[in-house]
Parts: sequence; structure tokens; C-alpha cells
Amino acid sequence: MKGNIKEITKEIVKNEKILLVGHILPDGDDVSSLTSMKLGLEKLGKKVSAVIDDDIPEYLLQFPTIKASIESFKDVENNIYQNFDLMIILDSSSPDRVGRFEKYLNSFRVLLIDHHVTNTHFGNINWVDPTMGSTAQMVYRILKDFNIDYDNELANMNLLGIATDTGFFKYQNAGSTVFRDAADLIEKGANISYIANTILDNTPLEHILLYKDILNELKITSEGRIAYSLLTLGMLAKYNILPKDSPSFVENIRSIRNVEIAIVFQEYKENLYHVSLRSKKWADVSKIALKYGGGGHPRAAGFSIQTRNIEKSIKEIVEDISKYLRESIGDLTF
Ligand code: AMP
Ligand code: MN
Ligand code: MN
Repeated sequence: MKGNIKEITKEIVKNEKILLVGHILPDGDDVSSLTSMKLGLEKLGKKVSAVIDDDIPEYLLQFPTIKASIESFKDVENNIYQNFDLMIILDSSSPDRVGRFEKYLNSFRVLLIDHHVTNTHFGNINWVDPTMGSTAQMVYRILKDFNIDYDNELANMNLLGIATDTGFFKYQNAGSTVFRDAADLIEKGANISYIANTILDNTPLEHILLYKDILNELKITSEGRIAYSLLTLGMLAKYNILPKDSPSFVENIRSIRNVEIAIVFQEYKENLYHVSLRSKKWADVSKIALKYGGGGHPRAAGFSIQTRNIEKSIKEIVEDISKYLRESIGDLTF
């Protein structure tokens, strides 16, 4: 069923015990959306739990409110039917993104709030709006509709995802509504330099040292338009970095002049790789990710692969992406 914000708020009014679910390999937008939605709905008197079936990266646990707000699968799996009467899924484009919560999708009434163009509309009510820069911005619209009284921390938690999913207000998805909603949150007490300092100017030294090794693996092809690198469990182990805390550096690689598509193949379990894709100006990487069973946005997308021969898989995928680039460049007028 197709939905909009009104249908979402109507359902929230009708239900008291709400389970908020985010996606595996969580990012800033996901934890921000869950935390701010939880704090906001609690101000309405709802009983709310916010859960992600995955570990939260260390850079996001730097925010004490995130650490205190987000629970794990095992925290809620007992008596889940008695404890909750509505499930709201945030920032997740397909059922596999919610991890073990996938098996409960048919037993709950499910509201889906998301901004991925690749969303498969798997909820009972789906508010999916790819014109939104982040899911956190959609959460802001919901809490605004309810006239929630923001305190500084709620404003910070809500602004965090709007900032991270727009690359701190510089990607193509940073349209005028992003700045208007962000300005509202700053008026309500959010502090953008606190958020930026905590995320951007707080890099563990080991991550910078790891970057040297990623640059050693860097390869450039397709007349300089594609740059890619590899990050293995062995490279992480050298610096004692856990896979869940690993930076991918895909955005650093994209910043190289003339590069249109950046790719990082990141091993997160033995023989299992997450492939992060970024484009700079025109290539639609969400289409590439969809083809490989993943999803995302035109400028940022991803998918997972299982392989015992990563060099061979990289060669095949990079050749496929080069072909896509050659074919689509013909349709473009610059
Ligand atoms: P990442 O490269 O992991 O930062 O992901 C970039 C974007 O692609 C984010 O919006 C993710 O939600 C989306 N994405 C990444 N991996 C997947 C996947 N396996 N399935 C669907 N969407 C994904
Ligand atoms: Mn996300
Ligand atoms: Mn998002």
C-alpha cells in the first residue's frame, strides 16, 4: 500500500507500544532516525524501544544518547508480541536490511519510513520519499506534525542524520528543504559543530594509518574515471580495528580529480565482502547495486558478495562497472 506522512501519524496515534527497527551495517542516518524518533515519541507518552540487529560503529557510540537508546535483537526478542503492537522500520530499503527482525514482518503491522530510491515497499504503510536527503529529515517532519517540544539533545540527535547523509550539507541531496529543516533544528537547540567535531575531527590514529594501506591497494582505471581499493580483515587486524568500526575511505577515493565512481571492497567476515559504491556527478550507482542484490541512492549505494577469490571478483565487477560507465556516458550531455 502506498502511504504518506498523514497515514504514518494516524497509525502512531492509534498505537501505544512501538518497536522502531533500523538496518544492519548501521550508519549515522539510521541511528539518528531511531534515537530521535524514540525520544520524540516518548514525549508523546508512547512506550518505545529502538533496535538494530547489528553492532553500532564506535564513532556513533561517541554520542552517549545513541549508546543509551539503541538496543539489540536479544534485548527485545522475548515477549516481543506482548511488548509491542506496531513496528516502524526506518532507513531500510528491503526486508533483508533488518536482519533477524525480517521473520517478524508478517506478524506485525509495519510502517516503513525511508528515502531510498531502491525501496521495495515491504511495509503495510510505506512512506518512501527519495527527494528527502535523509530518513532523519522525515522523522523531523513527523515530530513537527506532532508539535513535539524539542530539547537540545533531541535536536542534536535529529540533526545528526540529516548532516551525515548529506555529507554535512554538501551532496546533491542537500536541497533547500534540508537547510530549512536543519535551521529549524538549530533554532531548537542543535549544535552542528558539536556533531561535526564528534564525527569528523575525532578520527582514531589507527584509521589514518590504515588509510596508507588502502592507498597502497588503490587502482585507477577507465581513463581515470573509476578508482577502487580493497580492505581485508588482515589489514584491519594489523591495527586492531574491528570490522564494525572500519572506515571505508570510499569518499576519500571519490575525491580524486576526474574519478566518477569510487569502489571499496571491504571484507567483513571471512570471504564475505561489502562493496561500497560512490559516484561524483552523474553515474547512478544505485542501479549497479540493485543488479548485485543491494541498493542505495544514485550517489551512494552498496551490496554484498561472497567469494573465495576476491581478486577475480574485483576484476569482474570493475569490468562490469566500466562497461556501464562507457554505455551511459554516450547518453550524457555535459
Ligand atoms: P555504504 O556504502 O555501506 O555506506 O552504503 C551506501 C548506501 O547504500 C546507503 O544508503 C546504504 O543504505 C545502501 N546500501 C549499502 N549496502 C546495501 C545493501 N546490501 N542493500 C541495500 N542497500 C545498501
Ligand atoms: Mn542508512
Ligand atoms: Mn539514509
